[in-house]
Amino acid sequence: MPFAKGRKKTGGKTKGVKPVIQSVREFLAERGSNPFETLDDIRRGELTCNVCRGKKKTRYQPGQGDKTFERTCQSCYGSGFERINPADRARAAGELAKYCQPQLKAIEVSGNQDRPVLAEIRVRFVEAKDGKPVSGDTPS
Ligand SMILES: [Zn+2]
Repeated sequence: MPFAKGRKKTGGKTKGVKPVIQSVREFLAERGSNPFETLDDIRRGELTCNVCRGKKKTRYQPGQGDKTFERTCQSCYGSGFERINPADRARAAGELAKYCQPQLKAIEVSGNQDRPVLAEIRVRFVEAKDGKPVSGDTPS
């Protein structure tokens, strides 16, 4: 049914409402958060330790006294970075790679049921000397 002139608008986007993607981008920008930076930190194994926040030291309270002492962070062993296993680093690299180059699709080579695609590999031996074919007998 064609849209009759003067007909009241129904449904659709409410005027003034931001698209979800735009509001997520603004939200991340306001917080100074960049997911690509985080992925790259994971890829390099340089994600800041969540326990000591990169300070490499944490405070602890031995026994029942009020005194606290400082020691090497038990989570990152004083590196200041999260321990990230190679599989997670590879996964982060893969996620970033998606934005570096277009991904190629797999190509399936097949024929129809009556005429399937046939492949043939021929091997021909040639005479060789010093790792090169003897002249006049070139591989084809
Ligand atoms: Zn730490």
